Amino acid sequence: MAPTPTPTKNILILGASYAGVSTAHYLLKHAIPKLPDPESYKIVLVSPSTEILCRPACPRPMISDDLLPQDKLFVSIPEVFKKYSEENFRFEHATALELDHAGRKVLVKSTDQVEKTIEYHALVIATGASTPSPLLGLNSGADTLRAEWVEFRTEMSRAKSIVIAGGGPAGIETAGELGEHLNGTSGWFCGKLENPKVQITVVTSSSQILPGLRSSIAKKAEGLLARMGVVVVKGTKVVDVQPPSEEKDTTAITLSDGSVLEADIYIPAVGTTPNTSFIDKSLLIADGRVNVTNALRVEGAGERVYAVGDVASNARPAVHAILSAVPVLCANVKRDLLLASGVDVSGADRLFIEDTRETQLVPIGRRWGVGAAMGWQIPSFMVWLIKGRDYWLWTTGGLWSGSQWDKES
Ligand SMILES: Cc1cc2nc3c(=O)[nH]c(=O)nc-3n(C[C@H](O)[C@H](O)[C@H](O)COP(=O)(O)OP(=O)(O)OC[C@H]3O[C@@H](n4cnc5c(N)ncnc54)[C@H](O)[C@@H]3O)c2cc1C
Repeated sequence: MAPTPTPTKNILILGASYAGVSTAHYLLKHAIPKLPDPESYKIVLVSPSTEILCRPACPRPMISDDLLPQDKLFVSIPEVFKKYSEENFRFEHATALELDHAGRKVLVKSTDQVEKTIEYHALVIATGASTPSPLLGLNSGADTLRAEWVEFRTEMSRAKSIVIAGGGPAGIETAGELGEHLNGTSGWFCGKLENPKVQITVVTSSSQILPGLRSSIAKKAEGLLARMGVVVVKGTKVVDVQPPSEEKDTTAITLSDGSVLEADIYIPAVGTTPNTSFIDKSLLIADGRVNVTNALRVEGAGERVYAVGDVASNARPAVHAILSAVPVLCANVKRDLLLASGVDVSGADRLFIEDTRETQLVPIGRRWGVGAAMGWQIPSFMVWLIKGRDYWLWTTGGLWSGSQWDKES
């Protein structure tokens, strides 16, 4: 009599960006092959987009396709996982609608509107966070993002005024890219650019832009922006936004000091919202992120449920935090899977400890930038070399292909 095949145990990963894609590669390389009966485990990677995006780059290619190589910016997810066995990997072009953590299953909806339930043996939530502006990330599929960029470029070609809400890196990088592209820069000894072609205003409620960096670095960024005709309004909130109407073509942006700015384009770049609407509130902290332990397990969700990346409460939203969290998460997933399969595993959990030192690189236009790494200020040229030159595209090849995770660490 033929032996009964072992039922497949799904390791379900929701979200396919920095956190989800890295976790999938890492587990396929270092966890599944070490389990008894590896053919019985399947990574199921769920994403509403069939392409991965180098998200930090968005402020530049939203202006034109010619500014960065498109084949490196968007990469096919099924293509980079083709090298693994079909027994161990499946891509689901779908969105998670509802997590039933008591029943250990997730309801997903495919892009052709078909709903189905996927049961899991282990679950990794890596659904990240959405930006209020649709221009700055994969809030849904890559085609939608590209269509948003096309529409933006048409508006940009006619714009005389742009208002950006938010003085964090996303707002400042967007202001710098638009400033240099639309206005150029003043000469080195002229300081502020007088009479820019397009009025670009950044509004921030903080007392400085780039609150993640010391104030002297933030001042440098403000000086560079001024050279591109960007004006910064600090200590002021956007309290109301009225979109264009039949009577007028501009957006009216009311500020907390009572003044009203009229703009041809308004870009909200204030904060992000964790993509957790499909998760029971009892598993979330007050700001909407998933409540994880230092071992990256989700508190109260049952066995073998984890969260990583911008969606999780363990760290501030940054790629470098994800890259240090992935080996910790995967070591704990592997250990839990071995234990669940009856293998006696010694040793303790690996714990994630966030590096909270001042670390942020912010290109200002295509030639300059400001920033710090691990508490050390980085000169403009180095910011350009590391990030501003191609907005991290030099790093994503290894991440998306998985070669970054060839060694278990
Ligand atoms: C403009 C900008 C510039 C940035 N610059 C930097 C930088 O220079 N350095 C740095 O370290 N960080 C930077 N960041 C932050 C960085 O991009 C994030 O930390 C990183 O993208 C987070 O990765 P993630 O995998 O956690 O989630 P995300 O990148 O947010 O991706 C989540 C994925 O999950 C999918 N998803 C959402 N909901 C569901 C669902 N219900 N079901 C299934 N899938 C779902 C989404 O479509 C998306 O593909 C920047 C962010 C922005 C917006």
